[in-house]
Amino acid sequence: MNRHQRRAEDALRKERIARANAELQRDILGASRAFDTAFQAEIADELARDGQGRAVTCSAGCAHCCNQAVFMSFGEARAIATRYPAAAKAALPEFERQLVLQRELGLPQGQRTLEAADKDPEREAFLARWFLAKIPCALLDKKTQRCTVYEARPLGCRALAVVTPPAKCEAVTAETPVEERPVGFEQKEAYELARGQHMAATHRRFGRVLMGLMPQMMQWAINHSDESYDRARAEAQR
Ligand code: SF4
Repeated sequence: MNRHQRRAEDALRKERIARANAELQRDILGASRAFDTAFQAEIADELARDGQGRAVTCSAGCAHCCNQAVFMSFGEARAIATRYPAAAKAALPEFERQLVLQRELGLPQGQRTLEAADKDPEREAFLARWFLAKIPCALLDKKTQRCTVYEARPLGCRALAVVTPPAKCEAVTAETPVEERPVGFEQKEAYELARGQHMAATHRRFGRVLMGLMPQMMQWAINHSDESYDRARAEAQR
């Protein structure tokens, strides 16, 4: 292959990667936005039905739930790293620190299938352990308490809303009795639909579906090039 052919092939490869990244963004963010709309509608219905005059108390600048351990697909991580490269890179040292904390708290490491994550009997216990350790998300702006990747935040971050005063979320400790904990809404029916769409988009882009906790997924998404995914995919298909 001569120099011109190599250049032409390189240009084609870059174009293909840019198109695949754009499709991943469109599919992941499209499913997430549709979920937001459906989630709000489901909550409004539920509140109207229970007739107690309650309203969602979550608002911008309140980030107590950003201490949660977030499970996400690799597609979501890659969509964040592509759309918000500066915020993702700035968070990398904190993600690496959190990988060490994850080990210390006994949380699962590395990648898992969606099924393994869903069926893990320890899931609720380790999610609680992380939340109670009050470790803020690496993507949270600590001054403004706002998400630095808000438009592309994972589905898990969108699937939470409470109707109790925000101070209640802040005050939760391991000792807080269950009846005094915030009253909230979590994953609704629309979540399963959006999650399925995320899985499909991730599979289309990377040839498989990887799930994991945010520090690991984000570290891989930031540190690896598009070319390396293409190589891994080609090898997996051989
Ligand atoms: S990604 Fe954004 S919304 Fe989700 S936990 Fe982190 S800071 Fe909060």
